[in-house]
Amino acid sequence: MPVAERQAGRAVIIGAGLAGLAAGYRLSRDGWDVLVLERESEVGGRCRTVTRGGFRFDTGAQYFRDSYDAALKTAIEVGLGDRFRIPVGGAGVLARGRVVPFVPRSMNPFALLPWRALGPESAAGVLSLSIHLLRGYRSYNIRFPHWWTDGDRLTASDFIHSRTSSDSVRSLAGPLCRYALGAEPEKVSAAAFMAALRATFADRVGCFAGGIGLLPGSLAERTQVICGMEAQHVVLEGGRAVAVKARPAQGGRERSYRADFVVCAVPAPHVAAMTGGMAGAAGRVIGETEYSPEVVVNLGFPGEVGGVAGPVLLTAAGGFRAGWALTHRSKSLEYVPPGAAALTLVYSGREAASLMGEEDGAIIELALEEARGVFDLACMSPVEQRVDRHDPGRPVASPGHAARVRELWRAGSCIENLVLAGDWTRSPTMEGAVSSGFYAAESAVLRR
Ligand SMILES: Cc1cc2nc3c(=O)[nH]c(=O)nc-3n(C[C@H](O)[C@H](O)[C@H](O)COP(=O)(O)OP(=O)(O)OC[C@H]3O[C@@H](n4cnc5c(N)ncnc54)[C@H](O)[C@@H]3O)c2cc1C
Repeated sequence: MPVAERQAGRAVIIGAGLAGLAAGYRLSRDGWDVLVLERESEVGGRCRTVTRGGFRFDTGAQYFRDSYDAALKTAIEVGLGDRFRIPVGGAGVLARGRVVPFVPRSMNPFALLPWRALGPESAAGVLSLSIHLLRGYRSYNIRFPHWWTDGDRLTASDFIHSRTSSDSVRSLAGPLCRYALGAEPEKVSAAAFMAALRATFADRVGCFAGGIGLLPGSLAERTQVICGMEAQHVVLEGGRAVAVKARPAQGGRERSYRADFVVCAVPAPHVAAMTGGMAGAAGRVIGETEYSPEVVVNLGFPGEVGGVAGPVLLTAAGGFRAGWALTHRSKSLEYVPPGAAALTLVYSGREAASLMGEEDGAIIELALEEARGVFDLACMSPVEQRVDRHDPGRPVASPGHAARVRELWRAGSCIENLVLAGDWTRSPTMEGAVSSGFYAAESAVLRR
């Protein structure tokens, strides 16, 4: 019987983040009987928007980029095309105590770098880096820098050190890596750094008028999701997944959901508990995937906040500890009630790790004090506030990341009818999550 005429079966998806929901959306559309299990009371995972007193706070992901093919086409498919918003305000770099706007975006490599902000010494370093990048242009593909094999083996820090001054590493590569990749240049590969460089200075960023969480919310309306149900483990028989056992997160009796196909769309550290460990390539990739913790502080103010809208890359570790900061104007005005303002600070890597155990009040105080160094808050205090901790936060694209991802695609999970999805199986972005979900759905169709 041709594949198309065979009946689709029951797919159980673990995790209602963007990856799980993208898989659920596609499989439902293809005629599968889909069930997505989510342990939290709401969908979205690290891509959620909450509403508080008329303010919209994005609690994890903040922006999409115009290079996000799968995510943006999907957003249009689910009716969000008229919600796209491009930032109202500009972006800048905090250098020597003041915020300097980025140079205009263009594909000219000299113009891509915010070297005007860095003073003559760093500017010379960045200039020599630009020349080197131009000379090495043939060895990688600027559209797909993750596929640059040599760059996948080196750290960003070694790559830049070998070509330019350590000042450039500190003042340019540091903030850029923290902003775009959530980790230090010593942790990420040169290929990931190049991807971030291109994306930060060449792509436009945007959001949805109702918040970034509109995308998972709209996908969830098109498939069947049970929230508050925590998957415990996948039941295997003869090397195949036959069911998923789950328990209500608030307590209650364990249930069993029969499955012909399973998508495990949770962060790498949670996979082992679900599957009893993975052999082969999948087990290796899971073991080697590192995460950067992230702390997001959202503050709502009763009046206008002055200064650049952001995102602001923060260059001086001593001066301002957040990786980056922005106001609602860098997304859309619909994020706040009329006349009000919202401010977001995203702490990554070791700064976030040091804040993980702090009380919310202390983190808010720190964020406020530091935000006063960048934005004009007058004497205002926030009327709404929220702290979100993500651990695991963002997967770190460390050296070997692209090779590991390719190995995982080739080998798959060690269970015939179970596919692993999530940003860690692609790239650590919303696009990576959505495209991994689509890949999982395509695998299900092929294995039908
Ligand atoms: C602070 C921060 C800022 C970011 N900024 C950006 C940005 O600006 N742009 C961008 O593109 N990306 C950004 N990212 C990355 C982006 O948020 C993620 O890549 C994407 O949301 C990951 O989606 P996912 O579905 O792979 O994983 P998740 O969103 O983590 O989804 C996994 C889901 O599985 C659920 N789950 C876990 N265990 C179980 C279980 N046992 N049973 C049932 N459910 C379970 C979780 O509750 C969660 O809902 C950011 C991330 C963070 C943390």
